[in-house]
Order: sequence, then C-alpha cells, then structure tokens
Amino acid sequence: MSAGTGARMGATTREECAALDAVDPLAAFRKEFALPDGVIYLDGNSLGALPVRTPERVRQVVEEEWGRELIRSWNDAGWFEQPYRLGRRIAPLIGADPAEVVVCDTTSVNLFKVLSAALRLRPGRRTLLGDAEAFPTDLYIAEGVAGLVEGARSVLVRPEELDRHLDGDVAAVVLSHVDYRTGELLDMPGITARVQAAGALMIWDVCHAVGALPVELGASNADFAIGCTYKYLNGGPGSPAFLYVAERHLAAGPLQPLSGWFGHARPFAFEPGYDPKPGIGRFLTSSPSLLGQAALDTSLDLWERVDLAAVRAKSLALTDLFIALTEGLDGIEVVTPREHARRGSQVALRHTDGYPVVQALIERGVIGDFRAPDLMRFGFTPLYLSYTEVWDAARQLAEVLESGEWRAERFSRRGAVT
Ligand SMILES: *Cc1c(COP(=O)(O)O)cnc(C)c1O
Repeated sequence: MSAGTGARMGATTREECAALDAVDPLAAFRKEFALPDGVIYLDGNSLGALPVRTPERVRQVVEEEWGRELIRSWNDAGWFEQPYRLGRRIAPLIGADPAEVVVCDTTSVNLFKVLSAALRLRPGRRTLLGDAEAFPTDLYIAEGVAGLVEGARSVLVRPEELDRHLDGDVAAVVLSHVDYRTGELLDMPGITARVQAAGALMIWDVCHAVGALPVELGASNADFAIGCTYKYLNGGPGSPAFLYVAERHLAAGPLQPLSGWFGHARPFAFEPGYDPKPGIGRFLTSSPSLLGQAALDTSLDLWERVDLAAVRAKSLALTDLFIALTEGLDGIEVVTPREHARRGSQVALRHTDGYPVVQALIERGVIGDFRAPDLMRFGFTPLYLSYTEVWDAARQLAEVLESGEWRAERFSRRGAVT
C-alpha cells in the first residue's frame, strides 16, 4: 500500500483505522487464520478462510482415526455421534436449543427435507412462497418439492409484497435472513410472526447470517432453518450444512422423505421398514462426511470463544467504514441498506462494469466477487479483517476506478465461478 501515515480518504484517515485496530477486541483471532501475504480477503461470505489448526486436525483424522483405527473409529472416535455433536456446537450461534440442530448433507438437500416436512405439517395447503431474488438453489429446490406433491406450487414474490400473498393455501415461506447479493437483513421475528398468523410455517435460510451476526431462531419462533458452514463459519469448501427444527415440531414428529438409514431409530438392526428416530435425528439421511465434519469441528473450536455481540459491532463498523469510503467513487452506487437493522455483513456496490473492476482488484490482491448483472460483493469477516485493510481495499478500488486499468482486455475473461 503506497499511502503513508496520515493519508486521508473521505472523512477517515488510515491512522484512525490503525487506532481502531489497536483496541479491537477481536484482533487476536487474526492469527488463528492462515491468510496469504499480500491479500485482503473480502470474500469470506462466499468461502471462509482456513483456520491454522485445520490441516493438522484433518491429517489426524485421516492418518490416525481412519488409517490406524479403521472401522473402530465409528465408536471410539465419536464418528457416529458427530452430526449431533456439531449441531450442539452450532446451536448457540443461531439461538437454538442444542437438541434442535444437526449437521448433515448440503443446504439444498436440507431445504428439500424441511420443505417436504412443512408440506406434511400443513395438509390441505399447497403453496410454497419464496423470494424471487433469493439464492436460486433455494428456488430450484422449492420447485422440485412442489413438483412431487399433487396440486402444489412454488410462488415467487418479493419480501415487501409477502403479506398480500399470505392466503389460506400457503403452507410455508422460505426467506434468506441476509440477501446473498445486496446484503439486506430481514426482520426475522416480525416476518415469522406474520407468516405464522396466516397459518403458514416459516423457514429461514441463514447461510449469509450465521457467523456474521447473532441469529435468533428460537426467540423469533422460527419453525425451520437451514444454513451452510463454509461461509462465515470457515468449515472449508463444501463443508457439511446444518438444519434446525423447532422443538414443538420434533415432538409432533414430522417426516421428511429422504428417509435413509441414519435417520432410522435402529440403523444397525437393518430392519426392512423405516422407523424414524425420535427428535432431530430423523432429519439425517446418510453416513456423515467425516473429513468435512472434522474441518468444521476445528473451526467451531474458534467459534466457541467468540462473542457474537462483538462480531456484530465490528461487522457494522467495518461495513460503515467501507460504505463511507466508497460511496462517492466514480460510477459506484451503494446497494446495501445504510440502516444497521437492515444490513448483514457485506457491502454490494453497483457498477456497470463490475466484473472487470473486481478482476482488476483481485490482481491487486483485494479479493471480492461479482454477481450478475452488475454487483460487486465485498464480505466483511470480523474475525480476520482489520480496519486498516478495509481502508486499503477502498483505496485500491479508488485507484482502479481512477486509472481505468480495469479496461484491460484480460479482466473481461470469465471463469466458471465468479
Ligand atoms: C451458499 C448458499 C447456499 C448453498 O447451497 P449448497 O447446497 O450448500 O451448495 C444455499 N442457499 C443460500 C442462500 C446460500 O447463500
């Protein structure tokens, strides 16, 4: 970074950022992550960074638990219990009771299970409502579930129009707590109450919220939730997802159609008929992916020590800072809501040439990403980002825009993953 001490951007100097770093209560977590030199990582909302202890733990599971202990590890190393144990560890991060959460499969697969269970809990109702702008896998899964049930349909609306569509045919509503593109945070307790007042069930997708802010599923009276662990939770690429089912539904025992043997009351009795486990266990399907779970377990060691109120406070300060530093830049429109109560932990900036601008930033070591048609996304992860880095990233963006270097042809070539 070329800017010297005292350099000023907007109303803030780099020195002021350094002063904030010096008193940051979360600063000590930075050394727990293996980030490469020369990189400012603003994509932890898409793939979280690698915790330094994860490689050793994964090596130990591979070489010792698998390689040496072999099949014995199912009992001796706690493999069989792992989906529940990890669920209990995630519960405090989402405001849930430990018995209401289990770690398994992927977000999409878990959404399939809870949507199907919701339809079964609301016989006679056939509409699934989703957000037209949601992360599309959620919409595709709702279509898939609706296609399996006679007369069912998936209807897409915007959250602000929800109330008009809450009629007596709506079985369930699925919404993201934080929008993956704009970073907008929805009012979880308020929306849940309105959906339930209309007789429907509320399913929250917390992929972009868990680890970014305190999520209050229990206090909001949510019926179901799903979420992934490779974003703010740093579980690693493709790490297993989780699902939450409110205890009142576990007692009533809704069924989900992926009734695999791990959800059976006695999987090792090898009986021909399905007898669901009591409690959250019936939402399991298959053998857990132990290597992915081991990596997640290691990052949850960190989360056990994290104060979520401090995460939220720093997240809002970092996003406030980035917005203040970038809002006047040429061709930039801040899309993320300014009000704290409506913002998650990312900032989306609109620019007509967002794709090449992001590529030029990445070449300078500032990693964000792009979502079509014109949004540049920057995720702010309070455990491993400093105020100074945010200042530097904004400065780099200003330089990319001022110099016009993003116009170079190489920045317009697209990879399979943006
Ligand atoms: C990241 C994300 C997913 C990921 O789904 P997978 O099935 O785990 O690949 C789903 N929904 C939302 C809202 C997401 O942000």
